[in-house]
Amino acid sequence: MKDVCNVFYIRTLLGSSLTDLTIYVDCRGFIAEVKLGKEPLIGGYRVNDLTSSKLITLPGFIDIHAHLRDFELSYKEDLASGSSAAVSSGYTLVCDMPNTRPYIDNVEVVRRRVELARKHSYVDYGVYCGIPRSEKVLNELFTHRDLYVGFKIYPEDIWSKYDLIKYLLSKYEGLVLVHAELPEYVSRDSMHDLSLRYIDRPSWNELTVMKMLYSVNGKAKLHLTHSTHPTSPYYCRRLNITVDTTPAYFTLSSDDVMDCWRKANPPIPDPATRTLILHNVLSGLYDAVVSDHAPHSPYEKRLDWRVCPSGLAMIEVTSRILITLFAKGLLDHKLLLKYLCSGPARILGIESSFGCLSKGYRASFTVIDISKEGVIKLRYSRAGKSGFEGLRYRGEVIKTVVGGEVVYDSGEVILKPNTLIISGLANVVKG
Ligand SMILES: [Zn+2]
Repeated sequence: MKDVCNVFYIRTLLGSSLTDLTIYVDCRGFIAEVKLGKEPLIGGYRVNDLTSSKLITLPGFIDIHAHLRDFELSYKEDLASGSSAAVSSGYTLVCDMPNTRPYIDNVEVVRRRVELARKHSYVDYGVYCGIPRSEKVLNELFTHRDLYVGFKIYPEDIWSKYDLIKYLLSKYEGLVLVHAELPEYVSRDSMHDLSLRYIDRPSWNELTVMKMLYSVNGKAKLHLTHSTHPTSPYYCRRLNITVDTTPAYFTLSSDDVMDCWRKANPPIPDPATRTLILHNVLSGLYDAVVSDHAPHSPYEKRLDWRVCPSGLAMIEVTSRILITLFAKGLLDHKLLLKYLCSGPARILGIESSFGCLSKGYRASFTVIDISKEGVIKLRYSRAGKSGFEGLRYRGEVIKTVVGGEVVYDSGEVILKPNTLIISGLANVVKG
């Protein structure tokens, strides 16, 4: 076979049965061929045998919502620490948020960001742009669509940049992620204690915001991220809007919010809402489950709850929670793949090259030992704690392969891969 650099024997779930496959990987890190069974090899191929009775190989996980920080916020997290945390949890592609310092909302900063990711990221990488300050900057960004995966709208943009948002939605044919809360609720002081912030910032906000954006949308692919209202998946489906949620909203409730380690935006919901969101997840209603990995320094998280920053460091937690649901038989195998692999790829518009173990796809895999158990403890994120410490999980990530290279192996990040930069053009910028 021409141009093959690497061969993997893997064991994966096809339908409901475990099947061995031989995967030939080309020198660009894409799958050149897939054959049933373990093919006897002739020639000098580098072979990785990932088959064993305990191991299952899945397509590499994709997280479309994470904050890897870096730049002037490196004390919270940087691209190397955040992407190490990601790859140690089975992620092979992460899409990063623009609310860094400096803000990622113009061509110069996006370009700097992409170059930094190429050098330091252990996973394939995409970045969103924030809403810039002027139409001129937005038009400049439109001419560099190969640098980013989409745009991100924050609550504070909704009124202050409303005309620009309308302009964006009328011109841009790509992905627009929305943190859908109304700014007047976000900015008002909490009238209650930390655990009851959800009363001050009601989750029906997200329905209002999405309806409003839908009514002015022209060409964009709207996506509601970290949804906390249980009717949103139904509502969004009717409007042809995709939607995700995070484990913070279906495993924690307001009763569990004791300190800043579990302070999140949107706030952690009441117990009944948490149960309904979990029901939605197990019923397959979301298009993806994201981490919304939002690390802060331990010092910041120890401040008074009124001033400490919101966000949980979730990238070392999210996939483990979903794998646990799968291992316990609560989450169907197809839904595990939908939430972590094919769904995110479809939202990004890269479903023909990511999120599947087929010919022509990125050769990125996650190898899981489903019999292993563990207790959540962050190893790579600078946040130190996630708010989920001590939670028992089932199914451990043993190896993570990014573009045909074993990057994570048995507890260690061992190699910097040739990081690909993903763009909103459904194509891939060379690494
Ligand atoms: Zn976020």
